[in-house]
Amino acid sequence: MARLVLKFGGTSVGDTERIKNVARKVKQEVDAGHQVAVVVSAMSGVTNQLVEYCRSIAKIYDAREYDAVVASGEQVTSGLLAIALQELGVPARSWQGWQIPIITDDVHAKARIERIDTTEIVRRMEESGEVAVCAGFQGVSLRNRISTLGRGGSDTSAVALAAALKADRCDIYTDVDGVYTTDPRIVTKARKIPRITYEEMLEMASLGAKVLQTRSVEMAMKHRVRVQVLSTFEPAPGSDYPGTLVVDEDEIVEQELVSGIAYSRDEAKITLVGVADHPGVAARIFGPLTDAAINVDMIVQNVSEDGKTTDMTFTVGKTDLDRAVQVLEKAKEELNFRKLSSDANVVKVSVIGVGMRSHAGVAQRMFKALADRGINIQVISTSEIKVSVLIAEDYTELALRALHTAYGLDKA
Ligand code: ADP
Ligand code: ASP
Ligand code: MG
Repeated sequence: MARLVLKFGGTSVGDTERIKNVARKVKQEVDAGHQVAVVVSAMSGVTNQLVEYCRSIAKIYDAREYDAVVASGEQVTSGLLAIALQELGVPARSWQGWQIPIITDDVHAKARIERIDTTEIVRRMEESGEVAVCAGFQGVSLRNRISTLGRGGSDTSAVALAAALKADRCDIYTDVDGVYTTDPRIVTKARKIPRITYEEMLEMASLGAKVLQTRSVEMAMKHRVRVQVLSTFEPAPGSDYPGTLVVDEDEIVEQELVSGIAYSRDEAKITLVGVADHPGVAARIFGPLTDAAINVDMIVQNVSEDGKTTDMTFTVGKTDLDRAVQVLEKAKEELNFRKLSSDANVVKVSVIGVGMRSHAGVAQRMFKALADRGINIQVISTSEIKVSVLIAEDYTELALRALHTAYGLDKA
């Protein structure tokens, strides 16, 4: 007997037929003798709709009220799944974040989980085999208001619950049957990765692969939760671990040089032309952005030819672009740049692999593959296990396919 947390994403609970399908899957695990807690997302499209409602009333809205609105999607699916389970004769009860409770900080719309009290859920699990059907994505703040964990946050709810319950495994059921070498919806030759390290999964997620929310991977890594990604729709016959297992590095037998390629359309580029080239200027430029809580990701500064002025290029989140431009234009006098230009039609493409630590030439292969397709690289950034480039958004698919082939990742 094992204790399992099963998480079902938006597509998996997209309508009532699919919710009944999920109930059958949950029942299988219960019938196999396992103790089960389930985490559900809102039906697919619902959270987007709820966000849109907020936006259509106010451009800038109170994040506490946003949370009250968007958390409602998961309330519906948790109740419906509990009913579907009861219909199959499985004892089940729905739980909202505040009922469990899942306590978070009060950074609304991107709250962090502080603690989860699992006492009551565990008591019911042990005494009567009751399945806890928990609303993902939401918690309750220390000030007793409904909070949400950021888009894709149900993954984090599931992993956090698995850690708190000391579950044997956390199964993330979604609309693809595992983590692939790159987004299988864009590159048909993408291959399923049977095992991926926490570190690589963390990079993949934070660089755009939305199959797992970044925080869920951070949390899994910290608490050593065994996470498995698998499909709700395809029963995978004849295999213990049909999807992708996220594991420690020493559990990987053969390590590829590059294990995955991710992309993010969420960034936008800003260039300040003609900024003074002397100490303290970078600090002055990024100060006002920091004050406005705008994160800067990639940065390049050109060498100045005359030793007097230079150009500075960097990226910010696409949703922060207008605000960032505003903040910088306002400080133009003080920052003393000649011109500001911005471009939202960019994509960040990244190659990721722990094998990079010990091998040279990974970046070179990337640059060559892109050059061969005539794709211009606008900004580059690297870390120990990844290389990222910023290119024109129109080339996203072409670049992904070219890189996938260049690193030998295409499936046979
Ligand atoms: P859910 O609603 O179940 O949480 P998401 O839409 O958040 O599902 O995440 C699954 C999607 O992630 C897939 O449909 C796929 O298009 C996308 N994706 C991006 N990169 C990858 C990757 N490397 N492997 C698998 N899926 C990926
Ligand atoms: N429903 C939320 C979202 O769409 C949370 C999730 O599905 O993980 O972002
Ligand atoms: Mg998701």
